[in-house]
Amino acid sequence: MTYRVVYLDHVARLSGGEIALARILSALNDQVDAHVIVGEDGPLVERLRDANISVEVLPMAAVVRDIRKESVRPGGLKGRALAGSANYVWRLRRRLRELAPDVVHTNSLKAALYGGAAGRLAGIPVVWHIRDRIAPDYLPTAAVWAVRASAQILPSAVIANSRSTLKTIPRLHKGVTVVDPVIYDRVGKLPPASEAGRPYRIGVVGRLAPWKGQAHFIDAFARAFPNGDCEAWIIGSAMFGEDNYAASLREKVRRSGLTERIEFRGFRDDIWDELAQIDTLVHCSLTPEPFGQVVVEGMVAGIPVIASDAGGPAEIITDGVDGILTSPGDAAALADAMRRLHNDPSLRHTLAARGRKTALRFSPEHAATQVIAVYEQVISHRR
Ligand code: UDP
Repeated sequence: MTYRVVYLDHVARLSGGEIALARILSALNDQVDAHVIVGEDGPLVERLRDANISVEVLPMAAVVRDIRKESVRPGGLKGRALAGSANYVWRLRRRLRELAPDVVHTNSLKAALYGGAAGRLAGIPVVWHIRDRIAPDYLPTAAVWAVRASAQILPSAVIANSRSTLKTIPRLHKGVTVVDPVIYDRVGKLPPASEAGRPYRIGVVGRLAPWKGQAHFIDAFARAFPNGDCEAWIIGSAMFGEDNYAASLREKVRRSGLTERIEFRGFRDDIWDELAQIDTLVHCSLTPEPFGQVVVEGMVAGIPVIASDAGGPAEIITDGVDGILTSPGDAAALADAMRRLHNDPSLRHTLAARGRKTALRFSPEHAATQVIAVYEQVISHRR
């Protein structure tokens, strides 16, 4: 049976959740008749069209789309943003009634709220795909309570990207499934090791944001390799207005005298090509990462990974077995792990080989099967 599903996301930038959506839709391919509705035009639209996935832009007023999580507090939201949100829910409800899918699948936290409301009003079951931790270290308290309360009313089922994420939505009564939604597009090539005739290189991949820890990465790298020819690549760009942070990172590198050895690569479309040119991947978020697709991508590409011992990465990696975990924010420990791997090619090889096996758990087929099981559950419950 083919399910008709409408997927909702408020943005069309290529942040992790949107990349994951494009990947999961390719994997669901012939099992789902998919239609995506996004709140803005952007590179996700192009990526979906290239993959022959039906997509439309139902424009959302910028004042609604760009509501910052910090403004979700009593008295924080402007009247225009509230009116704009209500208006969008109403328009979306009408569009969903026209499309009459079997399920509405929301892909971002904002979409969970407006899409959950619109889906319910249209009488269509809603599946929440939660990729953010609903916790006070990530969201303002009022937003945490609003999302947790809505979770009791709006979705018929919740998919979370890790157990750690799921735990942040307590007391769910409805059908709940955890999916490992990381899907690699294709198995990356094994990277050329340092024999490639270039300096040893350590990479950090992810959008530039304070909690993603790029400043911490620079500190640890400077501590681990004050001299020598070891290089670092910082891969990714600011996506949600963190331009000041991006500028501060460049300034930090300049002040540390490391401009010759630390390169800012910007956002790269072909992540596999980047991964093929680095010898160790670091993922050092300061607050727990909900999942951390980058970690699995590094493992799949056959690169040893050092990650923060919290959230999703701590579920993926077993320390010392298929990667290395260090305490979030501990620059000395991170520097030490960087040096250990640099000095021990055989350890790098062992961790990378085992990491590759671990990463195979996160296959497209596995994720697709679990998502379909959720749709079946939700639809049969309705009959
Ligand atoms: N990414 C990319 N190009 C870049 C930087 C990041 O394609 O220059 C991708 C990365 O490969 C991963 C995603 O962005 O697939 C980030 O997802 P993750 O779950 O790690 O973090 P999120 O952005 O969801 O917080």
